[in-house]
Amino acid sequence: RTREDLILAPGADLRRAEALGGELKRLLGRSLKLRVVSAGGCNGCEVDVNVLGTLAWDLGRFGIQYVASPRHADGLLITGPVTRNMELAVRKTYDAVPGPKIVIAVGACAIQGGPYYKRDEQLGGASSVLPVDLFIPGCPPHPLTILDGLLRLIGRLEDEGRRIS
Ligand code: SF4
Repeated sequence: RTREDLILAPGADLRRAEALGGELKRLLGRSLKLRVVSAGGCNGCEVDVNVLGTLAWDLGRFGIQYVASPRHADGLLITGPVTRNMELAVRKTYDAVPGPKIVIAVGACAIQGGPYYKRDEQLGGASSVLPVDLFIPGCPPHPLTILDGLLRLIGRLEDEGRRIS
């Protein structure tokens, strides 16, 4: 597969998402451990990502967990634009994740810089420094949008009827 943009939004090509989800299922099984990296921005996206880990949303019931160490992760979930100050940290965190690994960019900043686009102190979206596998749009994306993207990525939303397997 290529590492092109995969934007999961209403009207997105579900066949592509499902194909990627199928590959991930083969590589990772039915669980996903993610190291969250806030590379900059206003932290609004980080807040909505963290909401999914609370009791109200209980992300763990889907087999998805946030982990503290990149060495225990299947990939990175990045929020915010990558600032010059964070570039080395982002690269080193990615290097510490054992392969095969994925990168998920959450929010307009992580996709292409968002409202911070072309400011001197930032490099752009996460794809300016890492190969991104999944883009989840929004400013910030609603927690349901993030959850939708993660579940499709691991192949747990089998069809448009939102049947969770
Ligand atoms: Fe904040 Fe919007 Fe950037 Fe998310 S995409 S970090 S909410 S400015």
